[in-house]
Amino acid sequence: MNTLLLKDNENDINTAGKILADGGLVAIPTETVYGLAANALNPNAVKKIFEAKGRPMDNPLIVHIADFDDIKRYRLVSEIPEDALKLAQKFWSGPLTIIMPKGEAVPDEVSAGLDTVAIRFPSHKTAQSVIKAAGCPLAAPSANISGSPSPTTAQHVMSDLNGRIDAVLDGGECSVGLESTVITLAAEKPRLLRPGGITVEEIESVIGEIDVDDAVLNELEKGVKASSPGMKYKHYSPKARVILVLSDDESYIDFVNSKKADDVAALCYKGSEEKLSVQSFTLGAENDYSEQAHELFKLLREIDKKPEIKTVYARCPKPDGVGMAVYNRLIRAAGFEVINLEEL
Ligand code: AMP
Ligand code: MG
Repeated sequence: MNTLLLKDNENDINTAGKILADGGLVAIPTETVYGLAANALNPNAVKKIFEAKGRPMDNPLIVHIADFDDIKRYRLVSEIPEDALKLAQKFWSGPLTIIMPKGEAVPDEVSAGLDTVAIRFPSHKTAQSVIKAAGCPLAAPSANISGSPSPTTAQHVMSDLNGRIDAVLDGGECSVGLESTVITLAAEKPRLLRPGGITVEEIESVIGEIDVDDAVLNELEKGVKASSPGMKYKHYSPKARVILVLSDDESYIDFVNSKKADDVAALCYKGSEEKLSVQSFTLGAENDYSEQAHELFKLLREIDKKPEIKTVYARCPKPDGVGMAVYNRLIRAAGFEVINLEEL
């Protein structure tokens, strides 16, 4: 299959809409990461997403809408919980996914057989225009091959999926750089399943205290059922071994320099580069979690392009605010391998 490279203009947005309405796959830009979209109401189109990504069929997809009323118009949920209304009013359009009881129109392929469905209203204007041009809600997981870092540019999508999907619409770099925050309102108490650009603190300021699922910060124990099927997969797995280093700046630099070798690299904060004697990749300023979120996946892909790098020592952000999202992705990239220099 020849993958069309579309531009961010009205003509190409209409082409994307037509391909989607006809049951095809188009990767589209959103404010979080690029999504691999298909008509969410067409089970055959949705199945193609799983095939193109190599995604396990038991991992459900997020349904993207371009207007709050799409939820009712397309019968996506059986009930809109009150907290969903409050969250939508405050954070939509934006990088928050809300899980609600599934409506009758949603195929089992989208929800992976669960009785709930994940819904998001992206703020990216091009994403909204494509949804409207398609005339249907779009199921869209990240537009990468399962297991590789989520794509934040059209070039990332092409390097994973060229020849496997109908088109990619190039809308430039994604602003957030990490996938959406996911909260379920289908549990007894609202629970965070995946941290992202909208923080726990921001959500709690609207609906009161929420639970944070254990699997957000810790490795899922063997035999424990995941609240969100995506949690049980390794995800974001770079080719090199990544190890998180919990420490202050000085100890981190000393530690990494003591490991100096041609196959060692550092994923560090701004300002440490010149003090490190191994090749380094700058995640961002220590206190700027949004900058770190924006850079992380791009850097993991750059590191993957250098097969000589076998081990990466990464600074470890604190799990608060948007730092929780960066920590959650990094600790998965590291397969939960952490060295705590403060305890040594
Ligand atoms: P992706 O779109 O690839 O970023 O992944 C979507 C994430 O949302 C995955 O971790 C899914 O497991 C999760 N998810 C989607 N729908 C549901 C649902 N109904 N219940 C729980 N988790 C869900
Ligand atoms: Mg994904």
